[in-house]
Amino acid sequence: MQLYNQHTINLYNSLTGEKETFKPIHEGYVGMYVCGPTVYSNVHLGNVRTFMSFDMIFRYFKHLGYKVRYVRNITDAGHLENDADVGEDRIAKKARLEEIEPMEVVQRYTVDFHNILNTFNFLPPSIEPTATGHIIEQIEIIKNIIEKGLAYEVNGSVYFDVLKYNKTKQYGILSKRNVEDLIHNTRELDGQSDKKNPQDFALWKKAEPQHIMRWPSPWSDGFPGWHLECTAMSTKYLGEHFDIHGGGMDLKFPHHECEIAQAEACNNQAPVNYWMHANMLIMNGKKMAKSTGNFILPNEIFSGDNPHITKAYAPSVARFFMLQAHYRSVLDFTNNGLLASEKGFYRLMDAINILDELKPSTTSTFDISDWKQKCYDAMNDDFNSPMVIANLFEAVKYINQIKDGSATITKEDLATLKNTINAFVFDILGLVNVTKADTGTDKLSGAVELLIQLRQEARANKDFAMSDKIRDELAAKGIQLNDGKEGTTFSTN
Ligand SMILES: [Zn+2]
Repeated sequence: MQLYNQHTINLYNSLTGEKETFKPIHEGYVGMYVCGPTVYSNVHLGNVRTFMSFDMIFRYFKHLGYKVRYVRNITDAGHLENDADVGEDRIAKKARLEEIEPMEVVQRYTVDFHNILNTFNFLPPSIEPTATGHIIEQIEIIKNIIEKGLAYEVNGSVYFDVLKYNKTKQYGILSKRNVEDLIHNTRELDGQSDKKNPQDFALWKKAEPQHIMRWPSPWSDGFPGWHLECTAMSTKYLGEHFDIHGGGMDLKFPHHECEIAQAEACNNQAPVNYWMHANMLIMNGKKMAKSTGNFILPNEIFSGDNPHITKAYAPSVARFFMLQAHYRSVLDFTNNGLLASEKGFYRLMDAINILDELKPSTTSTFDISDWKQKCYDAMNDDFNSPMVIANLFEAVKYINQIKDGSATITKEDLATLKNTINAFVFDILGLVNVTKADTGTDKLSGAVELLIQLRQEARANKDFAMSDKIRDELAAKGIQLNDGKEGTTFSTN
């Protein structure tokens, strides 16, 4: 029997604003679509957090034995600077500024995205389709919506008729906005004059002569609107009606609202049963923004090369830190938070690493099956990772007590404890077992610091031959000692 038969997941559905019992459309199968990155710059840490939440959710469904098809797209065309269909294509702009091909921009930042996600130990999605690979599908959807009378062409561009759609359906159903408010609050922006109404959105945009990324269509040489690609790719790979659609909170409106409208217009049914949104990541209590300097690149966490952090952190420490917040809470990224998580993470790993040394007894002083159930209950309650972690620390306490002889465990319970802790820590939370001494740089610094200490002792004893020998031998191996006011530090080349 699959584990999913024993566990009921209650997840928060943004569409209804309530926690609902997850019922898959097809028993044993989960179809999940998550909006991927627009690959025109290094992946934002906030996006990493969003994708990490869905990586954990993907892992949990798989752990329970579901067959999961997880589709996460790459946006490589059509996403304009302003979400209201105006401005330059983000990728084309970057290509112009750097004097390279748009596809070079796409390649560079897709590779960066994958590298960062691999470093954070993400599982790859089942399918990772691109917008430019699905232009034909997008054109077909536009034709369909025009046929239904819910889109119109003006000067080679095609727009979705929001007001007409709203007569029979509900535009704003997800973001809880109503069209009348939208009309009053939508400013007329430059370049929108083709639209009948300012809240209409582009399905196809005619390309300006200088626009490089263009494709032929029945209406003009142009490119698809940003919202359309997700409808095309989710429908193609998951069907007209699928289980879960996820993304960052900022995508709820207009992006996801437009996806719902497009799919409803085409197929006359709601495309998704459960909409899930991951909350924002802020830094030091403020919005992260390059322009204010309140900003960190994911890579800089691993190198320590950023003024907002005092040291480098292992990727699993950063992952652990992020999972200590529930995916629907705002997460404040701070150095102090990371330091605390680092301590906790290594305490957890140290406990796991002594599991094999524990000697079983005839009795257990801890209710392992109750603890195991609590771990599952936490995940089943809207993927409550901080609650899972709190339970894991209950086990850490117990493991340390068994080790020092103040608690006991039976052989059977020990096996359950091991299996459960491994499943939650490594398979579901996706952490990697590293001990402090495992990380190469820590090992190296430990050894070099010992040599620095020996050299200081030699100098204190006026054994300058020895102190010079230590310095020169290290230099020959590419390690420079730098004597300063604050003591001796080292650098490698
Ligand atoms: Zn999307």
